[in-house]
Parts: sequence; C-alpha cells; structure tokens
Amino acid sequence: MLQRSLKDTDRKIFDLIKKEAERQSYGLELIASENFVSDAVLEAAGSVMTNKYAEGYPYIRKKKAKNTRDYSRNGRYYGGCEVIDKVEKIAIDRAIKLFGADHANVQPHSGAQANMAVYFATVDPGDTVMGMKLPHGGHLSHGSPVNFSGKLYNIESYGVSKETEMLDYEQIREQAKEVDPKLIVVGASAYPRKIDFEPFADIAEEVGAYLLVDMAHIAGLIAAGLHPNPVPHADFVSTTTHKTLRGIRGGMVLCKKEHSKSLDFNVFPGTQGGPLEHIIAAKAVGFKEAMQDDFKEYQKQIINNAQALADKLQELGYRLVSGGTDNHLMLVDVLSSLDMTGKKAQNILGKAEITVNKNTIPFDTKSPFVTSGLRLGTPALTTRGMKEEEMKKVAVLIDKALRSEEDESVLNEVKNEVKELCDEFPLYQYKLEE
Ligand code: PLP
Repeated sequence: MLQRSLKDTDRKIFDLIKKEAERQSYGLELIASENFVSDAVLEAAGSVMTNKYAEGYPYIRKKKAKNTRDYSRNGRYYGGCEVIDKVEKIAIDRAIKLFGADHANVQPHSGAQANMAVYFATVDPGDTVMGMKLPHGGHLSHGSPVNFSGKLYNIESYGVSKETEMLDYEQIREQAKEVDPKLIVVGASAYPRKIDFEPFADIAEEVGAYLLVDMAHIAGLIAAGLHPNPVPHADFVSTTTHKTLRGIRGGMVLCKKEHSKSLDFNVFPGTQGGPLEHIIAAKAVGFKEAMQDDFKEYQKQIINNAQALADKLQELGYRLVSGGTDNHLMLVDVLSSLDMTGKKAQNILGKAEITVNKNTIPFDTKSPFVTSGLRLGTPALTTRGMKEEEMKKVAVLIDKALRSEEDESVLNEVKNEVKELCDEFPLYQYKLEE
C-alpha cells in the first residue's frame, strides 16, 4: 500500500494537483507574495523527513557560556533525531550567514506564527504595540482586531503620510513618544517603497521598546543586498521563506544573541509542537539557492521588472500609490484611474488568466472586501524569465482587459495573448505522469 503512486491511490487529488500545475503554468501570476519554487525545494519538501517527530532543538544551551548553542548534545524530546539534527543545523547556519544574524529559529510554520512567537517573547497581554495599519500596507499579524495581535494587545497603529503615501519617520516618532509602546513592528504586505530601519531603531530606543522587523515581503531583496538589511538594527527579524526569497512556504525568526533563549522558548513550546522537518529541509535548500550569484541577478531583475511595469502602467494613465515603486510591488489606484473598484478589476483580470489581488490603498474609502486598489508584484513572472519587454506587454494586457467593459471577445483575446506569453516562458518542466 505504501508504494502505490498518488495517481493510483487518490485520483481526485492527483487530478487537482495536475490542474493547479496547469493553472500556474498558463496564467500570469502577479500576486506580490507568490513565487514558484525550484524542483529541488519541492523534492526536499516531499521527502521522508515528514515522518519524524523532533520537538526541541538540535542543540542544548550552555548556561555558563552565556547560553551559547552546544551542538554536541541535542535538546530533543524524541530519539532518532541524529539526521534531522544535521539538517536543522544546516538550515540555521545558512539563515544566519545569509542575513548576518546572531541567531536563527527556522521552526515557525508560517509568517504569522513567527510573529506570534516574537510577541510572546516581548510583550504581555494588554501591553501597547505599534504596528503599521492594515489599510496602509501592514499585515494582519501587526495588530488587526480580527487577529490574535489585535485581540491580545493594545494596538496603536501608524500609517503613511497623506501627502506622500510614504512612511513619515518623524510623525511615527511623535506618535511613539505619545503612546509609549513596548514593541514596535515594522514591515508590510503592501508598501511599494524602501523602508529605512535606522530611524525605527532610534525611535524604539528613545521610547524603550523592542523592535521587530517583519521582512516577509522583501527578504529576497535583502538577501541579495538590494534593500537595507534590518538585522543590525532590530531586536527580532521575522520572515516568511516563500515570497521574494523563493523558498518553501514557511516562517523564520532571526534575533540578537541576548534574545535567542526567549525566542526559542516561545516558538517551542510556546506556540508550536513538533517542527515540520521536511519543510526545514526545504528551507535549507532555498537558503542555499539564495546564496548563489544568479539569485542576486534574479532579485535585480524583479526590481527592474517592477519599475518597467510601473512606468508602462503610468504611461497608460494609471495612478500608482506613492507615484511608483522601489521594490517588487506596486499599488494601482483603479478607483481614481478607471472609476472601478479593486474587486471588479480583480474579477475582470481573472477572466483573462491574469491573477492579481484587490488591495486597500492608504485612506481608502472602500471596505477591504471591495477596495480601491490592486496590488501587483513581479517575483513570480521574473522567476519564469520574463524581463522589461514582457512587463510592458503585461501592462498593455492588463489595460486592455480592464478597459474591455467585460466584453467576452476582448477578454478571450487577452486570455490567448496571455497563453502565448506563458508558452514562451515555460514553468515547471515536470508534468505529473499519466
Ligand atoms: N508578514 C507579512 C509582512 C506578510 O505579508 C505575510 C503574508 O502575507 C505574513 C507575515 C504572514 O505569513 P503567513 O501567511 O505565512 O502566515
């Protein structure tokens, strides 16, 4: 029974995975938080490492030597971890090297859980936390009332300036002095500009707060040295491993040495049980890929592509939040550009196999379910090998679809052009065998 293939064991799931592989291959993927992992990453994630329980860590702490990690003895609650320990150590060492951190915990199952562990390590329920407002680009786990962060803590969120639609560090400093937070969370899911971490470190020091930078969206750019690195400035840096970083879906936290014991304790046993060691193996593979020279080229191309897409959209008459982009994403204000909601724009583009997500823009007058904006990102299309010329074509296709007034024949034309473009840049070579 164990040796039967997926196709023979569960035809329904086999067929749906095949369908999803086709959808990914023949659509234009512009969701800024998505990417396509390598076959090597997929192989590690689909390996027998999933079978092993390994609660604990591959090291013990030497109390007398300031809690340094001692890998000569493991701190696991299960036997049989000799191989797993080696894998997790490699993942930790690579993460530390990639970002220049003192300590890495590679066990968080996701970005939100990585953040939860940092909250637990730094603040008590009821304490004041400052994070970026969700409609201004922040993430749910930075204080949204529907998330644990908004439920457990007193959230005083900051936003972007109304004039520039960018972070105004002096405004944030004034707010921090007023509300006296114990933790400041920096980072975003929909902010198209560079973030300067030094002023945030300065503000945190001035008000006596911990600083958490959530670099989930821009981790790949940071690894390649194309965006300032928060590690020297922040107490904790959390991330997902699956966005620009192009690794397996998962989370991670880096921190300063003095916080490493508390971080580890709040990941396990604080917020999780057994680590997903197959995912940790895949994280290690992704980190190795991110250390290669071609990864730097790839990240540079992501930025060049975002700028080409932004320029062409502006030329076609679209207003972009903050007037452009410095990173991998942009926010298109479709309401002021076309008198169309983000929801409607997302649906129209979906009919032409162009996948995007509706997104609130700063000071949005529409609800998060409707929105005035679209968020577009270039990491996934760049992975396929597309460059500036293709980005211009993509902008024209988006424009054609959005101005089609939902005319089926125009949308079908766009869909065919999308397919032609995708055919030029094949994605997964592997196909599920019939
Ligand atoms: N932090 C930021 C800035 C994000 O954009 C996201 C996801 O989009 C997360 C955290 C959460 O990651 P996950 O979906 O893995 O929980």
